[in-house]
Amino acid sequence: MFAEIITIGDELLTGNTIDSNSAFIAQKLTERGYWVKRITTVGDDVEDIKSVIREALSRKPEVLIIAGGLGPTHDDVTMIAVAKALGVELELREDALRRIEEFYLDLYKKGFIDDPEINEARKKMAYLPKGAEMLNNPVGAAPGAFLSYENTKIFVLPGLPREMKAMLENEVLPRLGRRVFIQKKLLAEITDESKLAPILNETLSKFRVKIHSSPKGFGKYIGIILFGESEEEIERAKKFMEEKGIRFEEV
Ligand code: ATP
Ligand code: MG
Repeated sequence: MFAEIITIGDELLTGNTIDSNSAFIAQKLTERGYWVKRITTVGDDVEDIKSVIREALSRKPEVLIIAGGLGPTHDDVTMIAVAKALGVELELREDALRRIEEFYLDLYKKGFIDDPEINEARKKMAYLPKGAEMLNNPVGAAPGAFLSYENTKIFVLPGLPREMKAMLENEVLPRLGRRVFIQKKLLAEITDESKLAPILNETLSKFRVKIHSSPKGFGKYIGIILFGESEEEIERAKKFMEEKGIRFEEV
């Protein structure tokens, strides 16, 4: 099962905001048993967003998560780009509009805003690509969207980390099926990563696992993460490496 992530926003490309969303999403997908094969970041430009979506879809991931650019301002163009990439129209959704109305009315009642009326900017967030299922945003105004394209499940989420996280938990993960355990973090007692390399290569050729290793400094441990489709396969790979002389500590 493989997945891709696209994060959107000029602020990510200028370095003003660090793209924490993709790391968070990647972690959650990895825990679910997906290989995240690619993370792409693109600015707030309709054509650029459209083309990275098309490219991602051409690689046929099972899951594509797109985050950022759903807000009320003119520079938030993600839904337009998603619609264009899929060759569908945007449509005004009554269910989304009602949610947005309720959201601003609630903010008004709490005294956070002066005017609860739906204006053009607020209404803009109620347009979703035709055929999309609306994803509820429990902590913000902009709803997300869930679409299927061939065998790819596409999720479009807001960029504010608080909103993205809530929606990933509530709306995305439940649509991805049961949790699969696929990673194990270990510390290898070996002082030099180059000594480890041939053993890792041999393990990779013999077992259906992926291995990430990261040195913790010379003369110490090397952090190893084993990824596999089942716990048993990971255990077999670990045992093989132990037989080759690596001593592990579990983290
Ligand atoms: P909203 O509906 O709240 O306007 P939005 O979908 O328009 O959300 P953005 O305009 O992309 O979201 O971003 C809103 C805020 O979230 C910005 O402050 C931005 O820096 C931050 N943000 C966006 N994307 C990311 C990301 N990938 N990682 C961390 N922060 C992000
Ligand atoms: Mg933005």
